[in-house]
Amino acid sequence: MTTEELRESLLSAPKNGYARLRDGQREEMEAYCKGYAAFMDACKTEREATAWASAMAEQNGFVPAKPGMTVKPGDKVYLNNRGKNILLAVVGSESLRNGANICAAHVDSPRMDLKPNPLYEDSEIAYFKTHYYGGIKKYQWPTVPLALHGVVCRKDGSTVTITIGEDENDPILVVSDLLVHLSGDQMKKSLAEGITGEQLNVILGSEPLEGEGSDLVKLHIMKLLNEKYGIVEADFHSAELTIVPAGKCREVGLDRSLLGAYGHDDRVCAYAEIEPLLRLGTPKHTAVCVLADKEEIGSVGISGMQSQVFEYFMGILCDAQGVDLRECFANSFCLSADVSNAFDPNFAETCDKRNNSQLNYGVAICKYTGSRGKGGASDASAEAMSHVRTTLDNAGVVWQIATLGKVDQGGGGTVAAYMANRNIVTVDAGVPVLCMHAPLELVSKLDCYMTMKACEAIYLA
Ligand code: MN
Ligand code: MN
Repeated sequence: MTTEELRESLLSAPKNGYARLRDGQREEMEAYCKGYAAFMDACKTEREATAWASAMAEQNGFVPAKPGMTVKPGDKVYLNNRGKNILLAVVGSESLRNGANICAAHVDSPRMDLKPNPLYEDSEIAYFKTHYYGGIKKYQWPTVPLALHGVVCRKDGSTVTITIGEDENDPILVVSDLLVHLSGDQMKKSLAEGITGEQLNVILGSEPLEGEGSDLVKLHIMKLLNEKYGIVEADFHSAELTIVPAGKCREVGLDRSLLGAYGHDDRVCAYAEIEPLLRLGTPKHTAVCVLADKEEIGSVGISGMQSQVFEYFMGILCDAQGVDLRECFANSFCLSADVSNAFDPNFAETCDKRNNSQLNYGVAICKYTGSRGKGGASDASAEAMSHVRTTLDNAGVVWQIATLGKVDQGGGGTVAAYMANRNIVTVDAGVPVLCMHAPLELVSKLDCYMTMKACEAIYLA
């Protein structure tokens, strides 16, 4: 053999995904990404994503899962978990005894939640106090357009949904930063300390009501909220209101190859999971799609991936077939669909380029996450990686290998560990993201499309 032939047969030389697109895939990719962008515009919180997914499920013939229900191959069922997260399944032709093929993503994203007593006035400006949710670089959030999303449960038990800042006729909200002219001290602080959590106060207004007494600006804001939503200050105690970046998902770059939006992590994988599931025929193994909440704060709580709601949902399906849930789990496979960090040449020193995902090289498969000695990782086995590699190759999916940055630089986790804890073989995979957790995150259209193809291939495996 010549050196060239040896190189060809022995070494791997990944190619940019654009060189690997097949006929017709370019158009499919653009159409898919249009749908994704519309999903992103409609869904900025886990509640909104859950409501969207529920409506789509209903439209596509899914029925609510109920204990004692019967199911047959091809049946479509879903469980809306208290409006906060959702699980969907298409029943396979084989028994659940042989396991399910699961894709699990999360639909919560880093943001600023209102405190239970949020509204106050200082120096005749009205504000909301916030407590940030998930890992954010606090200095990124002042002076960007913000919107208010969420629900308030009023004293009479009724719930009102609030969205302010997304319609072009709406006002936006904002957190202030200090003018550079007086930033002598601030600029000497570290990026972690330049803006503190207690400074993430959101400006609501400045016009006082006519009259005597204190807090006339605050009273004005409360009057406006009361007129529009019928709420009083005490109703904030039973509310979930959150501040997110305002605006729509936009094409980025002169070639329009990228998408910029708030919260690609992890709605880009959530959409990649649910889009193919909604149009799936009858798979061999039951296909399950999980859109989880609370991943950004540890997958905790009743709507997080550690919740027993997953056992509840899968138990309903297993009971319908007389299958032991434990046996189902033991034979199941889970793709933990979550984003990875795309290599950023501006910060090359933080990554091992040989093992980092790169924009446009396809869905990024991550053997392990964690940090410092794989701490907290769900380290997929060689056999599990082989299963994914073969499945994606057979389906013609463009994929790449990923790790999360240099050893000892930092790290992170996903829902993978909580699926693996259930005795389910699990591998992490997802879309590479630039500026993850920033108010505006970037992904490549090609990687979005290939992640959807990967989820489809896993469902059909
Ligand atoms: Mn994530
Ligand atoms: Mn995240």
